Amino acid sequence: VRTPLLAGNWKMNLDHLQAIAFVQKLAWTLKDAHHDYTQAEVAVFPPFTDLRSVQNLIAADKLDIVYGGQDLSAHDSGAYTGEISGAFLAKLECTYVIVGHSERRQYHGENDELLNAKVKAALKHNVVPVLCVGETAEDLEEFGPSAVPVAQMRAALAGVSADANIVIAYEPVWAIGSGLAATEEQAEQVCAALRVALAEELGTDAAERTRILYGGSVKSTNIAGFMRQTNIDGALVGGASLDVAEFSSIARFQ
Ligand code: 13P
Repeated sequence: VRTPLLAGNWKMNLDHLQAIAFVQKLAWTLKDAHHDYTQAEVAVFPPFTDLRSVQNLIAADKLDIVYGGQDLSAHDSGAYTGEISGAFLAKLECTYVIVGHSERRQYHGENDELLNAKVKAALKHNVVPVLCVGETAEDLEEFGPSAVPVAQMRAALAGVSADANIVIAYEPVWAIGSGLAATEEQAEQVCAALRVALAEELGTDAAERTRILYGGSVKSTNIAGFMRQTNIDGALVGGASLDVAEFSSIARFQ
């Protein structure tokens, strides 16, 4: 029922010219492999300055790859220098937008209240928020595996309607960019707890329908194990999403 989503978060990598070359190559590679996008959705999250070029390429070549922004403002427009609104992302036909990535939480002081507003801003403009949650190594030691990500998710979803189209990404901070991914069992345990909390927050229909991704040192060599888990519906990939061959293998999780 839940179509897997394999998503590449480029972070601050690839300018718009590199983005065009990359998406073209990715599309060719997946075409060569006869990738069925109805079986596994493939998304890229380029920097804002790349989005218009990616949009044009995808429209011109009629590609099935979808895309989104890495962040958005909680506001629609106005005196917010440097910010990008959900309305602008919608205009660029972004399917998704990442909300609350741990790097935004850590380096930009984004808190639960702001992220709740950003989730609502994305939904208001019909851009699907990919809400990131995850514990640090210290959190894990102090509170155990699920408490922090579950609390972050509940806070970010406060007041969100039961029929909202959202994606959750569980990204343990200690697994991001460390080469040390969570084990399949660890990731499944937290994703299962997130789904139980989703049912409590938004109802069982929403919990059944909503995709929960794992992120943190995902590679072509560990993706299959994550995808075998009942409550893991895809991956949010950082470093390994910047290599066409590697990311196409991940998209095919075989
Ligand atoms: P890595 O795949 O590089 O560990 O990054 C994960 C991530 O932060 C994706 O959003």
